[in-house]
Amino acid sequence: MSTERFDVVIVGGAAVGSAVAYFLKHDLGFAGTVAVIERDPTYAHAATSLSAASIRQQFSTPENIRMSRFGIAFFDGLKLRFGREASVGFRAGGYLLLAGAAGRAVLAANHAVQQAEHADIELMDPAQLQARFPWLNTSDLAAGGFGRSGEGWFDAHALLELLRRGARERGAVYLHGEVTGIERRRDRIDAAMIGDGRRIACGTLVNAAGPQAGDVAALAGLRLPVEPRKRCIFVVACRAELSGMPLVIDTTGVWARPEGNGFIAGVSPPDDADPRAEDFDVDYALFESTVWPALAHRVPAMEALKLVRGWAGHYDFNTLDQNAVIGPHPQVKNFIFANGFSGHGLQQAPAAGRAVAELIVHGRFVSLDLARFGYARIAAGRPLREANVF
Ligand SMILES: Cc1cc2nc3c(=O)[nH]c(=O)nc-3n(C[C@H](O)[C@H](O)[C@H](O)COP(=O)(O)OP(=O)(O)OC[C@H]3O[C@@H](n4cnc5c(N)ncnc54)[C@H](O)[C@@H]3O)c2cc1C
Repeated sequence: MSTERFDVVIVGGAAVGSAVAYFLKHDLGFAGTVAVIERDPTYAHAATSLSAASIRQQFSTPENIRMSRFGIAFFDGLKLRFGREASVGFRAGGYLLLAGAAGRAVLAANHAVQQAEHADIELMDPAQLQARFPWLNTSDLAAGGFGRSGEGWFDAHALLELLRRGARERGAVYLHGEVTGIERRRDRIDAAMIGDGRRIACGTLVNAAGPQAGDVAALAGLRLPVEPRKRCIFVVACRAELSGMPLVIDTTGVWARPEGNGFIAGVSPPDDADPRAEDFDVDYALFESTVWPALAHRVPAMEALKLVRGWAGHYDFNTLDQNAVIGPHPQVKNFIFANGFSGHGLQQAPAAGRAVAELIVHGRFVSLDLARFGYARIAAGRPLREANVF
């Protein structure tokens, strides 16, 4: 058996794993050795590749707002970090979260949290919504939250490539292989075992395995309630001109936004039809039963839309509270989680990467206090719920 040793070994090299490597080697100037172990360098099934690649500030948890705001700041600073050509194609189209009478109070309460965080979100009444978005059916709406700046969508592949390139340029090594075992001696992780027989000894091990994070934690005998849950995205064409359309999230949870010359749309399945996912088959029945009717109701011009195609990806779903788990295991301190983002991990990858890098180098959060996202709440079974999850 061959053994190599790295000071930091990161399991999973998509957005989050690569962000950890990038921030370690770049912002934190970490002088130690860093390896990223990735089972599929094409990233064909990574959540990063299959996501809707959108970014918002309309959360109910202050830490989520702060993390996503750092994502926007990171986009703003791309050229300084990566050179004049660098771009993730960010389009500041905004989000529009809609509420009926029943949801108005929650929307307003979340808006107060967002305002306290200086997020540029406008709380609109139906008349304002109608004036600003004339193509929207406001007949059964009580309010909407619109992100005037700092929200929109971007190119996930471009972000991943920049992070990978930046990490590599500063000496991080990407190893191709699947971690199939983790060597743990009581309260310490000694090594990651790759399926082909390589043993990669480590000072610190970071779990950045996305939807598989629970499985990777289990390899070390640790419990993490994160599992793959299927989410489908439908590409639709629609002749109507929906000028200035943001990413609209309907009262039903159905969402849609412009993409290229058309639109993409989706919805999370009901809780009782949302098992651990194994396959990537597109649930077209969900489009017919839920997505299309909701879109046709909310945006009458979409009644005449045409389904072009669809794809399915897996959320890195935290079954306790749909919030991230960031930080070391309380007993096995050299095992660090960066998991469970549950549908908002791409926009938070820069903040998560920086946070984990700070933990490794300084032993504490420096830029953003993410202590409430730590493992303690998982151990205690005490959820920190995010209200705005879709
Ligand atoms: C349909 C869909 C829509 C989404 N929309 C958005 C959105 O609009 N905005 C947003 O911010 N987020 C969104 N997300 C969530 C976001 O994509 C994820 O939270 C984020 O990409 C997680 O990044 P990651 O690097 O942790 O995981 P991944 O991108 O899944 O990467 C994990 C990597 O780990 C590797 N890996 C796993 N196990 C092992 C192992 N044992 N050994 C070696 N390698 C391993 C995998 O091959 C993979 O490359 C969406 C997700 C989906 C599925």
